Amino acid sequence: MTFRLLDLVDIALVSIAAYYVLLWFRGTKTAQLFSGFAFLIAIFVISKIANLYTIEWLIEQLTPVLATLLIVVFQPELRKGLEKLGRNFLPPVSEKSADLNIISRLIKAIDVLAADKIGALIVIERTASLNEFMETGIPMNADVNSDLIVSLFHKKSLIHDGALTIQHKKITAAGCLLPLTDRKNLGSLGTRHRAAIGLSEVIDALVIVVSEETGNISIADNGQLSRKLDLQEVQTYLLKIYQQETTAFQRSLKKFFNKKAK
Ligand code: ATP
Ligand code: MG
Repeated sequence: MTFRLLDLVDIALVSIAAYYVLLWFRGTKTAQLFSGFAFLIAIFVISKIANLYTIEWLIEQLTPVLATLLIVVFQPELRKGLEKLGRNFLPPVSEKSADLNIISRLIKAIDVLAADKIGALIVIERTASLNEFMETGIPMNADVNSDLIVSLFHKKSLIHDGALTIQHKKITAAGCLLPLTDRKNLGSLGTRHRAAIGLSEVIDALVIVVSEETGNISIADNGQLSRKLDLQEVQTYLLKIYQQETTAFQRSLKKFFNKKAK
């Protein structure tokens, strides 16, 4: 058997792919499932080398079932992965139609929440579904409205604890429970901020936090927390979500900021 240079490239490519797949799923339940499948593959390889015909036959018979199972079990991850690939290799699709009102209403609510130091946690859905988290709260179906948002987070509101979810330009739930991050290096940050980071680690939602202690505004995105943001910076994040021609809207926002500065 000769060993070609191409074989080396072949092995290297597979190893790199396996490394990235493992890195992707590190520390998740999916990683455990992967270990299970890796174990089966290892048994198959050993049985082939050692000529253990029955095991080899059994695994060969089970392969189509396992392949189907793999696709079913990893469906969410596969979807996410393909979406990520698509985003990396294709020009951005012109996203959801413009809804300039949503941004200005959100900015207005965040402005009041921060000024009055009302703790808040607002989650905005992007491509991955928020349903799983939305279902932990009180379901709603309301237009995004700044007074409503402020009222929901008001200390006297019975559902001020937890997060508010926004999906398809609607408030879909309040009082939702988000997963806390496992990160250790977060200093004195409490559970509200940890929940924001935690959710942004598992799905691509944008999470806005207003601190009850300081009135500071932070945004968790892709596992990173940007802290002490001003309204203009929040607006930039929101514009990324609700991509659009912004000229008219930016003009009205500028007016809003100028008025506030006076
Ligand atoms: P703040 O700066 O507002 O004090 P913090 O990061 O210090 O925020 P805490 O003081 O622990 O956080 O905030 C507690 C509040 O955070 C809870 O009352 C609840 O509303 C919210 N919260 C805590 N854990 C979660 C969670 N897992 N999911 C959603 N909301 C949560
Ligand atoms: Mg606190």
